Amino acid sequence: MEHSVNYLSTRGDETPRGFSDILLEGLAPDGGLYLPERYPRVDAATLERWRGIAAASYADLAFEILSLYIADIPPVDLRALVRKTYTAEVFGTPEITPLKQLEPGLALQALSNGPTLAFKDVAMQLLGNLFEYELVRRGETLNILGATSGDTGSAAEHAMRGKQGVRVFMLSPHGRMSPFQQAQMFSLQDANIHNLAIEGVFDDCQDIVKAVSNDLAFKRRHRIGTVNSINWARLLAQVVYYFAGYFQATETNDERVSFAVPSGNFGNVCAGHVARMMGLPIERLIVATNENDVLDEFFRTGRYRVRAACDTHETSSPSMDISKASNFERFVFDLLGHDANAARRTRQLFGEEIPRNGGFTLSAGEFERVRDFGFVSGKSTHADRVATIRDTRARFSVTIDPHTADGLKVARGHGLPGFTTLVLETALPIKFAATLIEALGHEPERPAGYEGLESLPKRFTVMPASSEAVKACIAENCV
Ligand SMILES: *Cc1c(COP(=O)(O)O)cnc(C)c1O
Repeated sequence: MEHSVNYLSTRGDETPRGFSDILLEGLAPDGGLYLPERYPRVDAATLERWRGIAAASYADLAFEILSLYIADIPPVDLRALVRKTYTAEVFGTPEITPLKQLEPGLALQALSNGPTLAFKDVAMQLLGNLFEYELVRRGETLNILGATSGDTGSAAEHAMRGKQGVRVFMLSPHGRMSPFQQAQMFSLQDANIHNLAIEGVFDDCQDIVKAVSNDLAFKRRHRIGTVNSINWARLLAQVVYYFAGYFQATETNDERVSFAVPSGNFGNVCAGHVARMMGLPIERLIVATNENDVLDEFFRTGRYRVRAACDTHETSSPSMDISKASNFERFVFDLLGHDANAARRTRQLFGEEIPRNGGFTLSAGEFERVRDFGFVSGKSTHADRVATIRDTRARFSVTIDPHTADGLKVARGHGLPGFTTLVLETALPIKFAATLIEALGHEPERPAGYEGLESLPKRFTVMPASSEAVKACIAENCV
């Protein structure tokens, strides 16, 4: 099978780069996002072969898919990295992302049985191993700086803990995370993990990360990097579970399935889009949002409108509370044709219109093409999520979290027409106990191994909301 392993920017920079060149990078130099030159197409014989591999080993399926995009890591090394990552010990089951059947034609795909009980572990655990491998190979070190209000930070810390050449400085708003989420991060005793509890709100944390990253001299001197959701390796790791879910839900490759995806920054569902571009028989990609409906508005109208901070709501599915969707530019570039003309138009929309007008509207002709890509969308309210959690418990004796409830509610709204629909379960309910108590009247079950998490000794430093204080801390503790 012919495949491309060079990466280009959605805004037109075509400097040839391999996977390892972009692994540790954020944005491309022109402000765009990295994508492969072309998506490898999986032919019928390969899909059939992968079905056999998937039945035996998620890690080996991951190896097959990743190899199509990674030419600069020797295959024996890549296979060892994925086998070390995707184990039943780390992800709870040998299937890694098993299905839970709800009713004929409707199942949950469990993506949240990794160490921090949210789907971000699936990609982040691989990223930790890839970062370590690449840094050791280069003889370099990296200081990862991030801001979190919950899931991303803890997934990153659990992926990077104990890794050679990597240190993590994770900012979180002091006293504002749920006790469970806080304990997941602060109980880590690894010397390379630094929890900085900032006296402020999440936006203050993000502003500090921006200020430090904009100090280019500091950034270079201390080798500052990030692990945010625009990282291509994270997206690529997520492509694998769309294939794994498809093979579990179907008997033959003539069948088609739909996926319903609780969405925030458009990373998860963008991976589904990539799987579909590769030829996985996906009927619909159902984008589910909460009250922060930037994406739902786009898929209904062709209008993409970035929200102001004051128009961004705090909801009961907080990991989907976004003002803009940072991976969305990748889809728009594909929608427009994934070529030099598409890059010109993408640069105009994202580099000029958004900064000037806070958004853009596609032409009717451009928007018409969305249909060919399988996308539909919908949104849920808090009341919808609570009702969906209650209903799912009553009918199937299955307890879901508020993000998964967004996905299930929106999937049902699209009528589940004739195709099996897989709703991606993106977190376990224990992480969002308050909403579960509201819906069910009692605390959700705690998975084995998480008893007493909140009473473990905590390791964190309280710090004023000042980029100078954070810089001093990094300078003192960095590798
Ligand atoms: C991050 C997250 C999401 C949103 O995923 P995106 O890739 O940003 O679209 C949904 N649910 C949970 C639980 C998350 O942690």
